[in-house]
Amino acid sequence: MAKIRILSADVRDKIAAGEVITRPVSVVKELVENALDASARKIEIEISDGGKTKCLVNDDGSGMGREDAQLALERYATSKIGSLDDMERVRTYGFRGEALASIVQVSKFEIETSDGLVGTKIIAEGGLIKRILDSERPQGTRIKIADLFFNLPPRLKFMKSATWERRLIADLISSYAVISPDISFYLGDDGRAILNVTGVNSTLQRVKTLFPRRISDSLVEVDFQIGATHIAGVVSLPGMTEKHQLKYIYVNSRPVKYPRIYRSLIELYQDPQYPPAFAVNIMVDPKSVDANVHPTKNEVKLSDERYIVDLLCQVVRRAIYKKPMSVEYDSTEQKGSPALVTKGFVQDTILPYGEGQRFEAGRTTEEFWQLHETYILAQTKSGMIIVDQHVAHERIIYESIMRGKVQSQRLLFPITIDLTPEEYRIYEKTKHALTDMGIEFKEFSSRTIVIDSLPSDAHINREEIAGIFGELSSIGDLIKEKAEIARVVACRGAIKAGQRLSSVEMQSLIDRLFATENPYTCPHGRPIVLRWTIEELAHKFGRG
Ligand code: ADP
Ligand code: MG
Repeated sequence: MAKIRILSADVRDKIAAGEVITRPVSVVKELVENALDASARKIEIEISDGGKTKCLVNDDGSGMGREDAQLALERYATSKIGSLDDMERVRTYGFRGEALASIVQVSKFEIETSDGLVGTKIIAEGGLIKRILDSERPQGTRIKIADLFFNLPPRLKFMKSATWERRLIADLISSYAVISPDISFYLGDDGRAILNVTGVNSTLQRVKTLFPRRISDSLVEVDFQIGATHIAGVVSLPGMTEKHQLKYIYVNSRPVKYPRIYRSLIELYQDPQYPPAFAVNIMVDPKSVDANVHPTKNEVKLSDERYIVDLLCQVVRRAIYKKPMSVEYDSTEQKGSPALVTKGFVQDTILPYGEGQRFEAGRTTEEFWQLHETYILAQTKSGMIIVDQHVAHERIIYESIMRGKVQSQRLLFPITIDLTPEEYRIYEKTKHALTDMGIEFKEFSSRTIVIDSLPSDAHINREEIAGIFGELSSIGDLIKEKAEIARVVACRGAIKAGQRLSSVEMQSLIDRLFATENPYTCPHGRPIVLRWTIEELAHKFGRG
């Protein structure tokens, strides 16, 4: 006789709801995130018994019209994503459309919301809508949850004391308050204010109002951006003498548990007795974050985890020890962002380069060797690198073009060139893009143009200009993106193989290469750097 039975829809829904909503703090989290997603400026939270008998969240955000208010309670009802592709771009806290539906399943639920036009009140219990009424409330949303898990006894038993649950909620609200300093937050427990803050301009100011002075006085701000990655927040100076709760990590402003990042930060201070205080927000391209690891979204996974952790440690270390960054590039990870390997501090003087942050390429000497007037050989902290001078320069020019950072230089002797009809057609099509890239023209007579400015970093002469138009016309009508034109200009403008470089030129080239976002592959996909560690060399020589 078969023993397997299919669970009823009702049981299934309650089990699924219990995955998203595990205790009062998860209710509060979902409701506060919804309020933030709805652009609320003021969020008030009221709980009773640590949230076990009541959780109420009131916001002044966008609110909902009647139809949306009803839909919002359904599973997979969301206004935040429409397709799987959108999931890669989400900047909102929510996107699964599961939270309200789950809460409704396992509580006595009341929502009052208004989009400024129509006010609606819905009362539901255990997943069933009981009543839909008109409401007079101003724009915004108020959701009240009573008797959480009244119909899910296993979860009910799982809850801890009111004090414990309250502490979790207070910590949660404090973490959102820190990352959204411009928003007002109020948290009350049975009418007693636990947290009450109005909008301020910075995370540091917010932290000062939330944490004791002994902790907030020891904080310094960090703010560092490279490419699409931005790290910002506050960290304590070494020598903390207090135990505290300020240990917040955010990924794209979402509070997360990220043990690897957490551990790295703690280890950095080497003080097991009094760990550091920090609130750091790691902002990266949403595409490189998987927030879908767990239904509660408390855990995320960064695709460039190693790079980000190393970068973060460098940034923090620099802020707290006021030391320069020393970063060594590791050629074993070549996808997208460079992989950084922290190698302690190098005391070399660091030459400023450009406006961005200059990275120390792990050099230990100022010496460079040019091989066959084509490759640059340099000693690094952990071994040696060989760089192809042409593709290195190509990468540098390409990135400065793509970032719109090209400086153009007026020519002493303008270059006049006659274009073929086909080249002229391409010129017409691409001239605006080329001007943006630092190549400036005057039109003379039919099909004759005069170039009077060129990108200052590029080595472009008459032949190169002709080459650029020749190459562009061979791509012809297939030119779709600025990047394609930039690749041609970068390739034509880069120093060639066979050109002798001085030691200073080599040094500048290497430094600027490692300040680019992707020093390992040229815009056409060829490798730029080859690297050998001292261990590999030793191995090859049979040293062990
Ligand atoms: P998600 O946040 O993943 O979209 P939820 O179940 O939390 O799913 O919410 C469902 C939808 O209800 C949201 O997409 C949003 O459109 C709407 N909503 C929920 N809470 C609010 C709120 N406080 N203000 C305005 N709209 C809200
Ligand atoms: Mg939500």
